Amino acid sequence: MQEKEVNVEGKRRRLLADVILILVILAIGFSVFLIVRLTEDEGVMVAVRVGDGEEQLYSLSVDGEYVLNGGTNKLVISGGEAYMVEANCPDRTCVRTGKISKTGEKIVCLPNKIYISILGAEEVLR
Ligand SMILES: [Zn+2]
Repeated sequence: MQEKEVNVEGKRRRLLADVILILVILAIGFSVFLIVRLTEDEGVMVAVRVGDGEEQLYSLSVDGEYVLNGGTNKLVISGGEAYMVEANCPDRTCVRTGKISKTGEKIVCLPNKIYISILGAEEVLR
């Protein structure tokens, strides 16, 4: 009788240990996935093209204000994010787009033909 109780207790402990082990493995796996995803998406440069002109590259890590297209639009890069602060376009879609910082995100000002996109490390090194 005594021995049987010990056995049941032992099985319970082993089961608990297994569950904890599985949870730890899942947690580690999820953390790695999250870190890889975050660094993958992190933008490095801002590519700005006005009309058919040359693409200008600005670093996302350097804060600054850039007057575009002879003053129709003003782009701000601050704290690793890029956003349009001023625009004379009628729809103001570019201003309303808000802040972009992840690879592949874009701000487009169709009326003024301004295209802004975020480049990740891979695209910059290419
Ligand atoms: Zn616009």
